[in-house]
This record gives sequence, structure tokens and C-alpha cells, in this order.
Amino acid sequence: MGGWDLVVCGWGEYHDLRGLSRDLERAARDLGEMGMPIYSIVLIVAAVLAVAAATALKITTAKKHPAKVCAECGRPSAHGYSKTEGSGADEIVPLCVDCLMRRLDEDYSTYKGHAVVVQPVAELPCYVFRPRSDWSEAVRRDLDSILTGPSARCQSCGEQAQYAWVNALEPGPVAKLPKLGIRQTLLAGAGVHPVPLCAKCAVKRIGHSLSAQEGGYVEICGPRGNEDGVVSGMGY
Ligand SMILES: [Zn+2]
Ligand SMILES: [Zn+2]
Repeated sequence: MGGWDLVVCGWGEYHDLRGLSRDLERAARDLGEMGMPIYSIVLIVAAVLAVAAATALKITTAKKHPAKVCAECGRPSAHGYSKTEGSGADEIVPLCVDCLMRRLDEDYSTYKGHAVVVQPVAELPCYVFRPRSDWSEAVRRDLDSILTGPSARCQSCGEQAQYAWVNALEPGPVAKLPKLGIRQTLLAGAGVHPVPLCAKCAVKRIGHSLSAQEGGYVEICGPRGNEDGVVSGMGY
């Protein structure tokens, strides 16, 4: 069975699909010359292709989701953390939930501005802060109207509020937020209002939302600098 030998021996070198199809053609021709029924050849070729496709898929999937450990404590990492939004892959640090929450606590507590914090929703890969100047006219207008007003107190603990929390349950409206603004997408319902929170209580709420979700975010970053802004899930 020269054809079989060819298929089996060549198997170890099937790293690239172009080479594979060339070898398959040759194998099929050999088998055909040996008088093997055409449907057998088709079946063999289909089986080999299926295995090759499964292997290729496994390789690409492994590249996309490498098993990562927390850069700080070595436990399994849940999310990627970066200092600023839109960081390169090499600037995103894998962190476990506990270490992430410590970093966010620091970021939210040292930030000098005021921000609207949209609840993190599953299915959007990033949860990041962007300063006011990076947003559209619609978001800037809503941001200003939400953040103005008397110096509010945190609804959870009574401390000075620095953040306005906006509930979000589905990714759809959050994905439309950059274009349509905050009010039209997330605050249109009757009796829906932003909740004033201090830094500690805002981070606690983020932690609750994250722990209720499966899967991890590719990139999470907290607010930075002194310009007002919005923290929101982003689809990119
Ligand atoms: Zn950790
Ligand atoms: Zn508070």
C-alpha cells in the first residue's frame, strides 16, 4: 500500500496546509492507480483534512487564549490589566481578580477627576477609562450634565462622591454609547438615575459585577490623570 505509506509517513510533517494538499493529491493519485474505489479515496482525504483542520484550530485557539498566571501572585489570571486604554499587548499584565481589585482600588482612589462608571457587562472584551476629550459630542454633553450638580455624597457610605455609577445589563446599549451618548442608551428608562459613589464603593461594585461574569476581559484599566471621563465596556 504505497499510498497509505505516503499518507502515514508524511503525517509528521503536515505543519502547513499547502504542503498537505499537495501530498494528498499525490496520495489520491497513487491510490487511484492502484484501483482503489474513488469513494474510499474521498473518505480518506476527508478524514485527513478533518484531523488537519482540528489541529489547526487547536493551534490558533491556544494562541488566542494562552493559559496565563497572575503577574503578581502566580494564581490563574482572570483579566488583563493596563495603565491606560489602548495599551499594546506587551503592556497588558495578566492579573487574578484579587490583585486586579487592589490595582483598581489604587487607580480609582488616586484619580483626580470625576467619572461616570458604566457597570461592566459580559461579552465586551475591554473595560476601560477614556478621558472626556476622547469621546463623541453626545457622550461629552451627557457626561457634563451627569457630573454637574451639588457635591454629592456616596449613596453607599456617605463619603464624598467622585463617581456616577450607571447600571448596564446588556452589551447592546453599551456598544451604542459612544455614538448615542449615555442618557439615550442607559438612562432612558423611567426612574433610572446615576448613583453617586466614592472610589472605594465604585470599585466594590465593579468587583461584584466582574465576579458574576464568566470569562475575562482582554483589557481593564482604571481612571487616570485629572480630566473627567467615562469608564465603560468597549467592543473595539
Ligand atoms: Zn494575583
Ligand atoms: Zn462610598
